[in-house]
Amino acid sequence: MEPFTYHRADSVGSAIASAQKEAVKFLGAGTNLVDLMRERVERPAALVDVSGLGRAIQETDAGGLIIGAAATNTAVAEHPVVRQRYPALSRAILAGASVQIRNMATVGGNILQRTRCGYFYDVEGARCNKRNPGQGCDALDGFNRYHAVLGSSPQCIATHPSDMCVPLVAFDAVVHVVGPGGERRVPLLELHRLPGATPHIETVLQPGDLITAVELPALPLAARSAYRKVRDRASYAFALISVAAAIRVEQGKVIEARLALGGVAPKPWRARKAEQALIGRPATPEHFLAAARVEMADASPRAGNAFKPQLAERTIVAVLRTLVGEQA
Ligand code: SF4
Repeated sequence: MEPFTYHRADSVGSAIASAQKEAVKFLGAGTNLVDLMRERVERPAALVDVSGLGRAIQETDAGGLIIGAAATNTAVAEHPVVRQRYPALSRAILAGASVQIRNMATVGGNILQRTRCGYFYDVEGARCNKRNPGQGCDALDGFNRYHAVLGSSPQCIATHPSDMCVPLVAFDAVVHVVGPGGERRVPLLELHRLPGATPHIETVLQPGDLITAVELPALPLAARSAYRKVRDRASYAFALISVAAAIRVEQGKVIEARLALGGVAPKPWRARKAEQALIGRPATPEHFLAAARVEMADASPRAGNAFKPQLAERTIVAVLRTLVGEQA
């Protein structure tokens, strides 16, 4: 690990001011960043600790929820309003990491955690365009079982590793950002960028921008949402495929649908094509499969993850069947 300075911010303003003086990294719990520093993937000259800023989880007048960026994953997963009104979010967080990590990790850090592509962490031995732009990508023809099948590029096929972000994009969560230019709100779906030719640029955040909160809108449909994660082992592992879904059926037809996928793309993936294919159609397994196939028709798997499109289709169908069964 390279030497660095450490400063604990006592306000959002002081954190932003610190970031304007020098190139800093904001530190939440460090459950990913410290690993990256140990591996020398990240070499910040300074850390500004923001883990004490914004831990509250508050209901909005409109019936939504504002979650402070420093709230722990455990606090969110166990919050009674989250469990009642956004159960897929609670389940995704519980599926995401061990209790020790959940007790430490923050919401802001979860959103900004970086890919777990093994080549990205192998500073000495692997080529990686995300770490060293223009160097090449050893994952393309290497071990790519966990890699993306949607939204990737010839420069990078890494996945975004978050479980929490999958239901958040399904529910149209909005990220509150404060930076040198003031405050702004960014839909979570637009926060992460696809890799294209610049996989090292992962979000639309600018230098010095700090995520201060995540806002969930009032969404009655979310109260009957579900999250399912398919992984290689029962203990904590990153998703091969995950699905967050909510669906409303009236007189046998789908009236409303929310669907998002994890483990398939460089960002939490909103399955808009599948949603559109579901609306107005009978709520049957055959139509669920047809909608899932519409979404996965764009998939471009590599040798090691050729199973993913079909696994995604089956998982989508299984989750939707469960939800429809709950409403029967
Ligand atoms: Fe690097 Fe992306 Fe290739 Fe992994 S997939 S080695 S992160 S460029």
